[in-house]
Amino acid sequence: MVNRMKDLVVMKFGGSCLKNKDSFQQIAKIVKHYLAHSRVITVTSALNGITDKLLEFYTKSCSEDNECNLIIEEINNIHIKLIYAILDEDSAEFHQSRSFLQKNIEELIQLGQVIRLIRPSLDIQDLISSYGEKLSTFILSQFLKSIDLRSHYYSSDTLIITDDNFSRALPLLEETEALIKEKFVPSLENNATDIHCITGYFGSTTDKKITTLGRGGSDLTAAIIAYSLRTACNCKIIYWKDVKGILNADPKLSDKTDLLKQISYVEAKELSFFGSKILHPLCLDINEKGNIPSEIRSFEDPESNEYTTITREIIQDEKIVKAITSIYQLSMVTIIGDTMIPLSGTASKLFSLLGNNNINLVFISQSSSENNITFGIDFEDSKKVSFLLRNSELFGKQWFKIKIDNEISLVAVIGAGLLHTPGIAGKVFTSLGDNNINIKAIAQGSSELNFTAIIDRSNCKKAIKVLYNAFINRPSM
Ligand code: ASP
Ligand code: MG
Repeated sequence: MVNRMKDLVVMKFGGSCLKNKDSFQQIAKIVKHYLAHSRVITVTSALNGITDKLLEFYTKSCSEDNECNLIIEEINNIHIKLIYAILDEDSAEFHQSRSFLQKNIEELIQLGQVIRLIRPSLDIQDLISSYGEKLSTFILSQFLKSIDLRSHYYSSDTLIITDDNFSRALPLLEETEALIKEKFVPSLENNATDIHCITGYFGSTTDKKITTLGRGGSDLTAAIIAYSLRTACNCKIIYWKDVKGILNADPKLSDKTDLLKQISYVEAKELSFFGSKILHPLCLDINEKGNIPSEIRSFEDPESNEYTTITREIIQDEKIVKAITSIYQLSMVTIIGDTMIPLSGTASKLFSLLGNNNINLVFISQSSSENNITFGIDFEDSKKVSFLLRNSELFGKQWFKIKIDNEISLVAVIGAGLLHTPGIAGKVFTSLGDNNINIKAIAQGSSELNFTAIIDRSNCKKAIKVLYNAFINRPSM
């Protein structure tokens, strides 16, 4: 029988929790609280705003812009200021942090020079943007040491293996689990360390090139680490955020919102796919696959009872619709075919064209006629899609008309079991219709967890209010 170690909490702190002395002290307070009854692994992002600066440094180095030196100076200064604020100048931790910073800044300067000599490439971009996490995490581990906590720093390229899709790499879970069992579990077991501080955001390919997991990727790092340790420990993840948890509607668009205290992975995935940016959908996939419970808690108010727990279990209560979600800025593409050429035959070519060009399809809407395909894309991709279609062999030809509407929003009602419940679609139609909101298209996810309506952007706020009142404020549905 496996001898289970005591409980383990993997906690992720994003850039908004890594700003200054106060935020580092807050992290220490949180970590100490959990150390009383479990082991702690921290996964940290770069200091607030640093990843953007590193990417700017990369871009400016590519165009041989001298400003790139200024950016490095700025990055250096932000970290120096932090080190002076949180560490005693006479301490070993202060000196360790200063020399780590200096070494890494020198490496960055050299990388900038390398870019000017060779052609810019995504692998160098990933390497450069990984420095933010290295610096913040190293400094955090030194800070924890300075307050007498036994901490250890790990750079995640030594623990996480990914594919070589630079800037949006996907973890290779099996390989990573094996590596973590070999390299990390022994140090977890030997009890010499209280807190293991791991960098978020990046891993490396099997041939040891650093890859990043995409913007906001540190959430995913926490999920990958917990997944890999799930058989060795009793794991849970806490994502510390600048909000108290997942809300049932976007507070920027809705007057009324409520905290979702418990939600299932499948529902949370729908929510994060449709607008709620709170966690990366892939990170929820991994949590679900490993059956790892997670919590989203407020960094400002860590002991509050108001937080969201995400588990595999679907809580069935009287509210079938748990949340109203929306994507405010969206574009909708309609391709209208000639009657002679049914579009259904060309749909697969269309979707591979979009897929091969990294276009994210937000929804696909079926129409009863065969000569029409409608789909939603990110607003930012609209020009690219227009260009791709108009220049393609197939769709550029005159017998297809391409229409792109950039003034639309998506609203969706979300909840497990929703589409087995009669009347949901009808109720969406009537409540929007009664309020003079015209539905331009509808779509339903294959997961049966959402029902989506596409409307004019000018109606978005009103639609959310109408749906919130129709489904959530009334206990019957
Ligand atoms: N620092 C990275 C970013 O800003 C990763 C993260 O924050 O999760 O995207
Ligand atoms: Mg960040």
